[in-house]
Amino acid sequence: MKPIASIRLFCPATVANVACGFDVLGLCLTSVGDEMLIRKVQQKGVKITKITGQKLPLEVTKNVAGVAALALLEAIDTDYGFEIEIYKNIKPGSGIGSSAASAAGAVFGINALLGYPFNKQELTVFAMQGEKLASGTAHADNVAPALFGGFTLVRNNDSIDVISLPSPIALWIVILHPQITIKTAEARAILPKEITLQTATKQWANVGAFVSALYKEDYNLLSKSLVDYVATPFRSKNIPYYNELETIALSNNALGFGISGSGPSMFAMAKGKADALKIQAALSKKYSETTITFNCFISKINPEGIKIL
Ligand code: ADP
Repeated sequence: MKPIASIRLFCPATVANVACGFDVLGLCLTSVGDEMLIRKVQQKGVKITKITGQKLPLEVTKNVAGVAALALLEAIDTDYGFEIEIYKNIKPGSGIGSSAASAAGAVFGINALLGYPFNKQELTVFAMQGEKLASGTAHADNVAPALFGGFTLVRNNDSIDVISLPSPIALWIVILHPQITIKTAEARAILPKEITLQTATKQWANVGAFVSALYKEDYNLLSKSLVDYVATPFRSKNIPYYNELETIALSNNALGFGISGSGPSMFAMAKGKADALKIQAALSKKYSETTITFNCFISKINPEGIKIL
C-alpha cells in the first residue's frame, strides 16, 4: 500500500538489572541495535510486512512490536493504519533487550507519524504490553532506557515513573554474550521469593549511592555500589565461568561486573575506552579457552535512545 508517510529508526540494545538496580535500573547502548521502517497508510490497523535477521512471527499479536503498536492505537482515535518492517540485529534471548527494541521502536515510530500525541512516559506503558508478550510480565526496565536513552530508573508502585539519570561521559560498557539459552521465566523462578532485611538494606543503600555517583561523576563510589545482593548470587550459577569472568574484569580495572537483564549476557562497566578494550580482550581470552561460542563488544552509553535515521 502506498504510504502517506514513513519513518526509519535505529532501536538500540539496552542493559536492564544494572547490578544493584535489579528490576529498576537500565541503560542504553550505542553500538548494537535493530532498524525499523514504519509506514503510515490509509488502511486502519497494524501489519508487520517484513522481518530480516531473525526468525520471528509476522502475526501482529505474536510479535512484541505488533502488541505494543496495538496498545498505543487503542488509546487514540486515528483514521490511519501502520505497516512495520523489522531489521533485527539484536538476537532474541541474549539479555540485551531484543524484544524491548522492537516494542519501544514500534510505539516511538507510530507516535512520531501521528504528530507526537503521547509523551515518553506514556509510550513506556504501551511498549510494556509488548514486553508482557515476551516474558509474561509487563516490565519497563529495557523499554525505558530504549525510549529515554542514558540511564533510567523505573519507579513502579501504582504508576510507572521513568526517571532519567545522568550518564558520566567517560563510562563505557563491555558486553559478553555466551551463546547459551536462559529463559527469562526460568531466571525469575530461580530467585528467592523473600529476602532478609539485612540484604534489602545493603541493596537500597547501593542503589542510592549509585544514583548519587552518577550525578557526582564519582567513579570510586560508582564502583563500590555496583554490587547486587538480590539476583546475581542465584542467577550467576547458570552462566558458565561467571565468578572467574567477574574476577578477570575487576582485575582489568572494571568498575563493576554483572548480568545483563536475566542473562546470559554479562556487562562490565569501565572508565574510558582503553580500559573497556582491555576488559574486552581479557574476557574474550577466557571464553576462547573454552568450548563456549560467544561475542563480546564495547559500547558507549547512548544518551538519546531510539533515533530517527
Ligand atoms: P532479551 O533477553 O534479549 O531481552 P527477550 O527475552 O526480552 O530478549 O525477548 C525474546 C522473546 O520475545 C523471544 O521469545 C521472541 O520470540 C519474542 N519476540 C516476539 N517479537 C519479538 C521481536 N520483534 N523482537 C525480539 N523478540 C521478539
